[in-house]
Amino acid sequence: MIDKYGRNINYLRVSLTDRCNLRCIYCMPEEGVQKLHHQDILRFEDVVKVVKATAKIGINKIRYTGGEPLILKGIDKLIHETSKIEGIKDISITTNGILLYDSAEELKKAGLNRVNISLDTLKEDRFYKITRGGSLKSVIRAIEKCISLGYGQIKINSVLLKGINDDEIENFMNLTKELPIHVRFIELMPMGEAFGIYEKGSIKCDEIIKKFDSLISVNNEKSSTAELYKLPNAKGMVGFIRPISCKFCEDCNRIRLTSTGTIKPCLHSEEEYDIKKYIKNEGILAEVLKKIISNKPSEHHLEEQGSLSAKMMYQIGG
Ligand code: SAM
Ligand code: SF4
Repeated sequence: MIDKYGRNINYLRVSLTDRCNLRCIYCMPEEGVQKLHHQDILRFEDVVKVVKATAKIGINKIRYTGGEPLILKGIDKLIHETSKIEGIKDISITTNGILLYDSAEELKKAGLNRVNISLDTLKEDRFYKITRGGSLKSVIRAIEKCISLGYGQIKINSVLLKGINDDEIENFMNLTKELPIHVRFIELMPMGEAFGIYEKGSIKCDEIIKKFDSLISVNNEKSSTAELYKLPNAKGMVGFIRPISCKFCEDCNRIRLTSTGTIKPCLHSEEEYDIKKYIKNEGILAEVLKKIISNKPSEHHLEEQGSLSAKMMYQIGG
């Protein structure tokens, strides 16, 4: 469906939970988050109803995220149900990869097309510190398994953190020489836990693009959030996601559903619409969604004002 600024909105990101098995320093409070009441969280059957309604108005790509989506039992069934919805052409997940090794095969059979794996360091002790307790080994073997299973376009997303992982940028890029993966660097966004480290810890992608002059620019899909490059003769790609230094609002094609049943038409805007009460009625739900999409904000003001979102990254899912 086309919004009032002429953008084709065809992509829904769904945060299935705000809980996580890690506590990344820029995302989740160390003590974790308060558990929500069961009745306040969408059940998978509600999620399927919302996806069906969005598919009727032009959504054809779904990404399941979190918190951590793979801590949820039955996600394979959700993916299978999603794959049966008419109009849905692409199903992906964003995961920290900790539980992916054991579920990758089942999820692929269920209909999962693509995986994005978040990984900020290739050093075991550093991984433990950044994630406050995670094991790097489990993520690495999950990536290897996804490659061997033949998942399409595996993306490794790495948040740039000055003084924490910026000495590993080249090592990350070098992964693409031999592996058919996209390594994408993401600028730290000033929201939630990240506010505390933003001033000292943020790096602009420009600095890196300038420094690595062997990177060759690659033509890109218009609605892609990442600017793509390639190292000479590399099997994979290097991407830069620059929500701060180079906004992609003009080509934004997505809306977000949170686990508490709200729609966020823009990641960083305060706008959020509770659609839980409409879920039972497919017709009304589609009408409400149409209105929300049509009025999607033109852009965010992250650089000037920080994020205005009442929800944190672990509640929205990226
Ligand atoms: N738990 C899953 C994971 O880590 O992939 C999915 C949810 S997580 C919130 C989605 C993505 O948001 C991760 O790649 C994470 O690194 C990123 N993220 C979280 N807080 C961020 C921030 N302040 N700035 C930039 N990216 C952030
Ligand atoms: Fe969990 Fe993902 Fe946030 Fe890390 S970035 S704490 S893995 S939700």
